[in-house]
Amino acid sequence: MFDNLTERFGKVLSNLRGQGRLTEENIKDTMREVRMALLEADVALPVVRAFVDQVKEKAMGEEVMKSLSPGQTLIKIVNEELVRVMGEANESLDLAAQPPAVILMAGLQGSGKTTSVAKLSRWLQQNDKKKVMVVSCDVYRPAAIDQLQTLAGEVGAEFFPSSAEQDPLEIAQAALARAKKAFAEVLIVDTAGRLHVDDEMMAEIKQLHAAIDPVETLFVVDSMTGQDAANTAQAFNEALPLTGVILTKADGDARGGAALSIRQITGKPIKFIGMGEKTDALEPFHPDRIASRILGMGDVLTLVEEVSRKVDQDKAAKLAKKLQKGKGFDLEDFKEQMSQMANLGGMSGLLDKLPGMGEVPEQVKNQVNDREIARLIAIINSMTPHERRFPAVIKGSRKRRIAAGSGTQIQDVNKLLKQFTQMQKMMKKMKGGGMKKMMRSLGGRFPGGGMPPGGGFPF
Ligand code: GDP
Ligand code: MG
Repeated sequence: MFDNLTERFGKVLSNLRGQGRLTEENIKDTMREVRMALLEADVALPVVRAFVDQVKEKAMGEEVMKSLSPGQTLIKIVNEELVRVMGEANESLDLAAQPPAVILMAGLQGSGKTTSVAKLSRWLQQNDKKKVMVVSCDVYRPAAIDQLQTLAGEVGAEFFPSSAEQDPLEIAQAALARAKKAFAEVLIVDTAGRLHVDDEMMAEIKQLHAAIDPVETLFVVDSMTGQDAANTAQAFNEALPLTGVILTKADGDARGGAALSIRQITGKPIKFIGMGEKTDALEPFHPDRIASRILGMGDVLTLVEEVSRKVDQDKAAKLAKKLQKGKGFDLEDFKEQMSQMANLGGMSGLLDKLPGMGEVPEQVKNQVNDREIARLIAIINSMTPHERRFPAVIKGSRKRRIAAGSGTQIQDVNKLLKQFTQMQKMMKKMKGGGMKKMMRSLGGRFPGGGMPPGGGFPF
C-alpha cells in the first residue's frame, strides 16, 4: 500500500541523514523533493501546497534548526503533518439512533459499494454484535441484487429481497419497515452507481436519502482514482450530507493521493479502508497508523488487532501448551501456522505492517508471497500423518512421492523441510519468552497486551 510514496519519502529523508543540521538550504531542497513526491502520489494541489508550507514553517522553527539530527526531526514533522492532513484521529460509525440505524451507501459504479456493504455487515456483526439487514436498490443491473444476496449469505446478514421491476424508493421503504419488524439493529442500503456523476443519479440518491433518513451516509470511492476520488467525493458531498468515506482498493494503490486528499478537500473523515476483495478485508482508518506505514515505520497496532481478531485463539493456545509441555513442533503445526497466516491476508499484508519493511526490496518480500504459502500447504497435504509427525523419515523415495503428489519438484520439498527446521529451532527458542521476545528481536516496538494467549506465532 502506498509503496511509491514510501519509497520516495524514504529517499528524501535518507538524503538528509548525512547532513549535520537543518539549514535553510537543505530544508529548501528537501521541500522541493517532498513536493515532487506528493505530486507523483497524485495528491490534490491545494493539499500539496498547504502540506509543504506547514512542514517548511515548522522545520524553520528555532528549536528544530538547532537540532542535531535533521533527518529524525524532519521525519517527525512530516509524520505530524501527514496525520493532520488525514484527519488526526480515527472516526468510527455513529449508530446512535432509534434502531434500525440506517446506513446509506453512495458512490460511482465499480467503486466497491456492494462489497463494502458485505464487509461492513461482517464488521458490525463481529465487532459490535449487531443484527444487520441489507438491501439492494440497484435495480439497473439485476446481477447487482444477486451479488448482494450471495455476499449477505456469506457473511450471515439478513437479506431483504428486491427486484429489477421495483422502484428504488419503494424498496428502501419496504426494507426499513421490515427491519423494524424483525428488530434489525442496522439496515445497510446499497444503491446503484453510474460511471460518472450525473444529475439523474444524484436526484435518485437524494430522494432515497430523504425517504429513509440514514444516520450514516457513506461515500464509497476507489483509492486508485487518486485526487479524482477527492473531487468525486466533493460532488457527492454537495448533493448529500455525507458522514464519512470508505476508501476501497487501497491494497492495490501504490500512490496514496486519495487518502491524503479526501479529508482536506471535503472535510469528511475516511472511516474505513478496503484492503482486498474478501469480506474480511476492511480496516478502520487511523491517520496516525497510515502515516506510520507511509513513512516505512510499520503499523504494529493494526497488526496486533488483526492477529487477535483473525487468528484462531483456541488453536494458538493449544499449540503453546503443546510446546510448553516439551512436545515437538511438527509439520502438522507448521501447516496450521501457514493457514493462519493465509487467514491474516497473507504475507504481503503482514509485511507491510512491520516496522522497517519499507526498505526491504520488493524481490525479498516476494520470496514469501502468498502463492508460496499455498504451495507449502499443498506439499504438506501430500504427506502421510506419520511423515508429518516425524519429518526425519522423509528421504529420497518419499520426497519423490510427495513432490509428485503435490505437483511440485523435489527442490520444493527440500526447501520446505529446511524452512520447517528453521521454524522448529525458532519455536524452541520461543518456548520461554514467547511473542514479545520475538517482536523485540524483529526491532519492533511491541506494545504489551492484546496478543492471543500463548503467542505461538512465528512472526
Ligand atoms: P459497486 O459497483 O460499487 O457495487 O462495486 P463492487 O462492490 O461490485 O466492486 C467492484 C469490484 O471491485 C469487484 O470486483 C470487487 O471485488 C472489487 N473490490 C471492492 N473493494 C475492493 C478492495 O478493497 N480491494 C480490491 N482489491 N478489490 C475490491
Ligand atoms: Mg453494486
